[in-house]
Amino acid sequence: MSSKSFRGRLAPSPTGSQHLGNARTYLIAWLSARSRGGEIVLRIEDIDSPRVKPWATEQLFDDLRWLGLDWDGPILVQTQRLALYEQALEKLKAGELVYPCACTRGDIERAASAPHLDHEGPVYPGTCAPRQAADSNRFMHRPFAWRMRTEKRTMTWNDSFLGETSLQFDEIGGDFVVWKSAGMPAYQLAVVVDDANQGITEVVRGDDLVPSTPRQLWLYESLGLAPPGFVHVPLVVGPDGRRLAKRHGDARLSTFRAAGVGAEDVIGLLAWSCGWQESARAISARELIPRFTLDSIPRRPFVLEPDLLRQLSH
Ligand code: GLU
Repeated sequence: MSSKSFRGRLAPSPTGSQHLGNARTYLIAWLSARSRGGEIVLRIEDIDSPRVKPWATEQLFDDLRWLGLDWDGPILVQTQRLALYEQALEKLKAGELVYPCACTRGDIERAASAPHLDHEGPVYPGTCAPRQAADSNRFMHRPFAWRMRTEKRTMTWNDSFLGETSLQFDEIGGDFVVWKSAGMPAYQLAVVVDDANQGITEVVRGDDLVPSTPRQLWLYESLGLAPPGFVHVPLVVGPDGRRLAKRHGDARLSTFRAAGVGAEDVIGLLAWSCGWQESARAISARELIPRFTLDSIPRRPFVLEPDLLRQLSH
């Protein structure tokens, strides 16, 4: 691929403060683009309205600038792009690829029994699948979602970090929601429309999103869009192996910044965790460009031991 056509993205959700785990993923995405002379764009994924915090967007701009992770072109904001997502939904309706679904979470849990991956919820039992798109007219004032038909497919992709990866829809909840009953697009649809519309060629994100990838690949196919390459990298976890949370100590970038920790100390620790240097010594993101490789990143999650956090805060 020529360097001009390479385009990555940073896609933070302003649902809270960005922490060391987010920074590690952004650093990998940024280096992957910059080491190839490619572009990287910034998109604010703010459609998850109940969880979005008004202060979090400004804070994440400060976090990224502080880390020395720059971006190209205008910043896209998902809530300003609802018309595009609606167009995609109309296309799916026209192809009968989605159906209106009035099932509540409780309905689905009661009807489902098939095995599923952790955190993905029960497999949708197909209660509303016999419906056609036009049946939505009959819902009147009852809230309903639009659900994507998946037909028990298996989706396979060649992940640049994980290698060839296959998942069946039965393992990840079956037919999935693309438009929420609250009248907003679901993450799965918005991210596909945006990544395609922005010409993204590589998506780097945490491996907690692996179960989303088959859904997104199926949306690309259904909408006649070309999918990007995917790179799912391990998360930063606490000593208990769970994803970073308050009980593991304060790993927010804004806290480090306020405490006078150097951005290069944070980058140094992350660079060491990715195998790009022998120790956690301070280094800038830019200095890491020639050292970038996915190959040295350990396959397991990076455990943020309390000692590492303490050393950083000194
Ligand atoms: N906005 C998502 C997050 O912050 C990332 C989505 C993606 O990279 O596809 O978790």
